[in-house]
Order: sequence, then structure tokens, then C-alpha cells
Amino acid sequence: MYNIFDFNMEDLKDWMKGNGESQFRASQITNWLYKKGQWDFDCMTNVSKSLAKKLKRNFYIDIPELVKSYESKSKDTFKFLYRYRDGNVIETVVMKYKHGNSVCVSTQVGCRMGCKFCASTVDGMVRNLSSGEILAQVLRSQSEIGERISNVVLMGSGEPLDNYDNVLKFLKMISCEYSLNIGQRHITLSTCGIVPKIKQLADESLQITLAISLHSPDDIKRKKIMPIANKYSIAEIIDACRYYIDKTGRRISFEYALVRGVNDTLECAEDLIQLLKGLLCHVNLIPVNEVRENEFKKSSPNNIKSFYDKLNENKIETTVRREMGSDIDAACGQLRRSYLESKRYRKGVENGGDLVRCR
Ligand code: SAH
Repeated sequence: MYNIFDFNMEDLKDWMKGNGESQFRASQITNWLYKKGQWDFDCMTNVSKSLAKKLKRNFYIDIPELVKSYESKSKDTFKFLYRYRDGNVIETVVMKYKHGNSVCVSTQVGCRMGCKFCASTVDGMVRNLSSGEILAQVLRSQSEIGERISNVVLMGSGEPLDNYDNVLKFLKMISCEYSLNIGQRHITLSTCGIVPKIKQLADESLQITLAISLHSPDDIKRKKIMPIANKYSIAEIIDACRYYIDKTGRRISFEYALVRGVNDTLECAEDLIQLLKGLLCHVNLIPVNEVRENEFKKSSPNNIKSFYDKLNENKIETTVRREMGSDIDAACGQLRRSYLESKRYRKGVENGGDLVRCR
């Protein structure tokens, strides 16, 4: 059995051909799945009973089940906890902006990158998500909010470049006309900096925005908060970024989570300026989301402002990310963890024990 969302148009046409069906059936099916949001073969009215039967024998339609949903007080951020058919849960966030709706998708169940400030990685990585499982987060979220989603960011749980082939298939498919038709310039992929994969991505000739989770301009400091820094230096990352810019002409976005007393001094700002001077880039300052899972505190408003001013004065284009959904555990991986913890807690109680955390 296959997940039908893992099949792109070419795969579906090949399958139809191999199974004695006309290839135009492929576009009928994608029309139901992606344009009409019909996720039951029996309800696809222009599909014959015999083909529906054949499809059901070979495919399942893995639209994740909604386990929980949260809406922020400001009503502009939604967080969904979805469960796939194997029982794994992941989270997806939808943010409503004036310019359209944006979805933040997870690319793995958990994460193995170990960034110290991030809740997604605390329990490690369970498995990769397939291209269809990532796509189905967008489909399901569209149907939950009842509106079209026009922007996608790969900034949920997981490291997209650690799941390269599935993520690439997802990126190609979601921008196709027959699927969700989301232009590549409306897609941002964020990575903690897996250098060889950044170069490989540059060679794919996509028009997506690449975001780098930099969080420090200094290798020693970066190693303290991001284990991946032990593998690739900042100089190697910047080199790979230059290659990406050369190949795609696209501006790089650097994410910088401001953590009190860790990376928010004016000296850090000065080092960052020296590092990024002359590079086609943009810096996105993120006041770190304070999560239960660690002790990191966000920088003071004064420090954030001074850091921001210093970068802008030095012609590094910078924005401060608006904090959305902090009242609904919208930081990476928090919702899934809350859910798993509550399940463990219940299990502990059911077993007559007092187990609350079993990590
Ligand atoms: N693995 C990828 C994408 C997922 S994380 C990456 O590292 O880029 C998406 C972004 O959220 C990254 O920049 C990550 O560093 C950041 N992030 C994770 N936890 C955070 C927190 N508690 N506060 C602020 N940003 C956080």
C-alpha cells in the first residue's frame, strides 16, 4: 500500500499505465485530492467503481487526523496537532497575515540536531516524514481554516536537510499547478546549516528562500547552543550561502534568536555585521521563545532594540519577528511534547504509578 500523496503526477500516470488505466485518470484524481479536498475514493464521482476499488487496494489517503487545535487570543495564529496513521503526532502552525495565510510545517517527527534552546529535539528524532505527509499538513490546515494557504515555511519540527529527498519531492510537488500551486518564492526552507546539503539544494535550481539558523556569529559560542556547529564552521556556512546566491540569485535569510546574556551584546552585533557585510541577505531577529524545556531567557526589549539598530545602521537589512501565538505553545515542538507528556502522565496514573515524566 502507498500513500497517494507521495505520488506526484508522473508517478500516478505511470501507475495508471501499469495498471491498464488511461493516464488522464491521474489528473482526475489529483483534481479531487488537491482542488476539491475530497479524500475518499468512493466519493470521486467521475471515477468508476472498479477503479475506485483498485485504488483502495493499492493506496491509502493519509490525511492526518486532527488531535487538538489551538487558536491564539489574537485569532491570527492556529496550532494543530496532527496524527498520522502510524500514531505519530506532529504539529503545524498557521499564521494569518494581511498578505495571506502562511503555514509552518514539520519535516520530521522530532529532530536529532540537538539545538539547546529548541523543544523539538528534546526526545530526539523518531522518523522522517514522507513528501506526502508534509504536503498533507498543508492540505489539512487549509481545510481547518477554510481559506487558501499561500506561503509555506519549513520551520516546524525537524531538520529539512536531514530529510533531503522527501523534502525536495515535497517542494517540487507543492509548487505544481495540479497540486497546491504555491509559487517557490512563497516557500522558505530553514536549516541549522548542513553545508553539503545547502550546496546540493543550490544545484536544484529552485527559487525558494533559504533561511539559515545562525544564532551566533562566533563558532565557539555557536557550538555551545548548536551541536551542528561542531561539524560545520560559520565560514563554511557563509561559503555555501555564497554558492546558493550565485546559483539562484536569491537573498539568504539569517535567523538569529536573541537569548539574554548568550548572543545579544553589541559585540555580537558588531561581529555579525563583519560576517555578513556585502552578502545578499536579510537578518531576522527572533526574541527567543522561552520554553519549559530549557532555561534560556529572551533578551530585554532594550537589548533587542540596540541590536536591531546597530545592524540597520550598518546597512544590514534586519527585521524583528513579531511574536505570534506564544499563548498557545507555538514554539517549535512544544505542543507535541505537552501532548506526549500528558499521555505519559495518564499512562502513569492508569498504571497506578505516579509517573509524570519518563524521559
Ligand atoms: N531545523 C531547522 C528548522 C526548524 S526550527 C532549523 O534549525 O532551521 C525553525 C527555527 O526556529 C530555527 O531558526 C530554530 O533555531 C528556531 N527555534 C527553535 N526553538 C526556538 C526557540 N525556543 N525560540 C526561538 N527560536 C527557536
